Order: sequence, then structure tokens, then C-alpha cells
Amino acid sequence: MTDITSLTIAAARDALKKKTISARELADAHLSAMERARSLNAYVLETPDVARTMAARSDKRIAAGEAGPLEGIPIGVKDLFCTKDVRTTACSHILHNFVPAYESTVTAQLWRDGAVMLGKTNNDEFAMGSSNETSYFGPVTSPWHRKGSNTPLVPGGSSGGSAAAVAANLCLAATGTDTGGSIRQPAAFTGIAGLKPTYGRCSRWGIVAFASSLDQAGPFTRTVRDGAILLRSMAGHDPKDTTSVDRPVPDYEAAIGRSVKGMRIGIPKEYRVDGMAAEIEKLWEQGIAWLKAAGAEIVEISLPHTKYALPAYYIVAPAEASSNLARYDGVRYGLREPGRDIIGMYENTRARGFGKEVRRRVMIGTYVLSAGYYDAYYLRAQKVRTLIKRDFEEVFARGVQAILTPATPTAAFGIGEKGGVDPIEMYLNDVFTVTVNMAGLPGLAVPAGLSSEGLPLGLQLIGRPFDEETLFSLGEVIEQAAGRFAPETWW
Ligand code: GLN
Repeated sequence: MTDITSLTIAAARDALKKKTISARELADAHLSAMERARSLNAYVLETPDVARTMAARSDKRIAAGEAGPLEGIPIGVKDLFCTKDVRTTACSHILHNFVPAYESTVTAQLWRDGAVMLGKTNNDEFAMGSSNETSYFGPVTSPWHRKGSNTPLVPGGSSGGSAAAVAANLCLAATGTDTGGSIRQPAAFTGIAGLKPTYGRCSRWGIVAFASSLDQAGPFTRTVRDGAILLRSMAGHDPKDTTSVDRPVPDYEAAIGRSVKGMRIGIPKEYRVDGMAAEIEKLWEQGIAWLKAAGAEIVEISLPHTKYALPAYYIVAPAEASSNLARYDGVRYGLREPGRDIIGMYENTRARGFGKEVRRRVMIGTYVLSAGYYDAYYLRAQKVRTLIKRDFEEVFARGVQAILTPATPTAAFGIGEKGGVDPIEMYLNDVFTVTVNMAGLPGLAVPAGLSSEGLPLGLQLIGRPFDEETLFSLGEVIEQAAGRFAPETWW
């Protein structure tokens, strides 16, 4: 029998139902795989006791014929989701000892449906980054290597631990959050599927806030179908999050295999950016050809404000972050560094508790929100945001049902290779993904090929608001054509 850690959720669900494997066996196999893979640093906390208790309960429910839709499925949880009585740090020193008294809505729904928690996965500090190098717990190493090279590579970020864990078979699926690309970019770098749902589809309650108008939770899975299965449990209205939307959660899995014949797919000319690698261009052409072969109609479209998305994002996101992170003052949560008086205590706590990138964002955010600069920066960025959203609305109004773009401008890079001196170099990773957050739309990254160096490359499908189903249908077409990609085990 093949190693049960390499099963898809769909296959594990069948095997559990037929009782050819037990939830306990599945949990144990993953816990051992996690132990063997500690050098990847994908998990910042392993929770074997919780996992075994949950798995035992799953086995009981399966035996009683009361299995939930995710019964016995072992999952990694990004350390941005609050988990009751289980340490949650956002991978920041300032929250190094924070143990929440509550469970995030998304994770509560996963446990309600029978999923099993394996542990908390690594991420960039407060989800700020594109490489998982800003984590207080150190970087995550990608399970992928370039052909004939041992250079350690980044898994992407900020949800790098979740992506690496799914790609390396250290869980069947993981949760992520995406503010500017943090699900789609690491999914593309590690050869797996990653979905950022429509803003409001999943509750943000109990997720450590970065930029509240952009943050969304979503699934990382090895197949598109598994993403559909997981999203159904993660999504839904939550009265505790006023931005969560009250509309029914469809059976996303039913969209898998649905015909895409006659669907109009837009190809935005503005995404052909200067200096884009030739192999990314080729991958995009290949994706277009696959969708055409499946009967979709390809149309060239224009999203004229695309070039302003990244600069506007780097005003809006830090502005909201500076406001959200004001709560970490040494009084209510986590770290407290004494000082001569209360101001001194605040200053010491925040200076020592936050890493460099977080401090940079807090300073930028405070600056663009300050009385003298609010109109020049923040207000202007908000106006640009409206224009970006309008670009998409116009295209959708003309009958385009989804948009196909590359997911990232390059394949994964080496740890320490980017962003050392110039943070902009790192920010450029998100050129294709931030527009989607700015407009609140759903976006799916799906693996589509390998680079000349043997690294995974992904395509992105952007959808109409609350039309994740179309993305799953189209994503599966690409997946079927491209095949699946897995790293060789070396860790
Ligand atoms: N890389 C982007 C940033 O650093 C996006 C991060 C995210 O989506 N959480 O802000």
C-alpha cells in the first residue's frame, strides 16, 4: 500500500469510510512524517496529543455512522488562526506566549466537520512577507530543490509553513490567509492548489488581523477537488464578523468535472509585465491552449489600473496593519518589556517584540495615516483601489466569467536571495496577486508546469465575486492537463 500521507482528502475520505484505514492510523502516520521533516521548519508547534484525541473521536463517529464531511482528515493550521488552549503566535516574538481562550470560526468549523489538528504551521511574522523568512521561528525550507542543486529554497509566503507541509505530505491540507497573495504565491512555489476566496466568504473572526479589508482565509491542498472539499467547511456566514456575507455555501465539489465549454476567459494584456521570465510566458500560453481545448472561449481584456495595484496595496495594507497592531502594547497580550514608565514599557515591548519588516510596516502605515499625509497617500490609494475594482467589474459585465494569469513572476528563489537590502524586490512577488485582494475577488493558484530548473510554476484563475465554483471547474481542467507535481523526499 502507498504511504497514507500521500493520499488526497477525497481518497482518504473513501478509505476511512470503508474502514481500510482508521483516523488514528492516519494521524499517527502524519505525526511521524512531521517528526522526520523537522528540518523544514514547517510547523512551529506540533500537537500530537490533540491530534490523537481528535482522531480517536473521529474513529468513534465513523463506527457510529455519524461521520462529518471531513471526519478524520488531518490538517495543519497557519499560526495566525487562534486555537483555543493551543499557543498562537502569528510567528511574532510579541505573541510568543499567547494562548487564546477562543477558537477562530474557520477552525471551529473544520473541527465541527470532523477534521483533526496536527499542529500550527510557520508563517511570516503577522503574515507580512512573501518568503516565510520574517518568522520569529526562522525560515521554512521548501521541500523542492532546483535540479542538481542543494540550495535551500523558500516555500513562498506568508503561509510558507502550510504550503511546505502540504507539498511534503506533512498533512492532507492546511489553512492559510491571503492579504496580498499569501495563499496563491506559496501554493505556486510548492506545486499545490491554493485558493483565496471572495472577501466575506470565510469569517475573519479569531484570525490575527493584518489588513482587515484585504485578509481572507482559504485552503491549501494537493488537488483542486480537495480545495473544494475544504472550502465548503471553512466558508459561511458568521454573525461575529460583520464583513462575512450571509449567502448559502454551495457544494463546491459538485463543480469539479463540470463542463467549461463556451465559458469566456479573459487574458489581461497588462499582466505581460516587463522582464517576465520567458518560461512564465510559455506556461501562460499553455494554460490558454488547455482551456481552449476544453471548449472555453479566450478573449483579450484590459485592466488598465493594474500597474497601480502594488503601490496602492503597500499604502493600504501597512495603514490597516499599523492600526490593527496598535493592540500589542504589552498590556493585553504576550510580551511585556518593562520601562521607566508606561510609555517606556510600550516602547520597549514594541521595539523588542516586533521584527524589522513589521516595524517598517507600522512606520509606513502610521505615516500615510497621519494628519498631513492622509489625503496625499491613504485617500489616494483608496481611490486607486476603487478604479482597480471597477476595471474588473467592467470586464465581468461584458460576459467574462474568469480571468487567467500567471500566479507569480518567477519560480521559487533561494533563502536569503531576495529582499535583504531592497524590500521592493520582495514586494514584486505579488504583482499578479494583490489586484485580486484590492478588488475582493476570489483567486485560485493551480500548478501548471515545471521551470527549466525543475521547480513548480502556477497559473492563477480570478473569478467573479462568490463564484469560486467556476474557478474549481476551470482549475481542474488545468490540473488534468498539467498533471500533478511532487518533490522528491530528501529531508
Ligand atoms: N506579500 C504580501 C505582503 O507582504 C502579502 C502577504 C499576505 O498576503 N499576507 O504584504
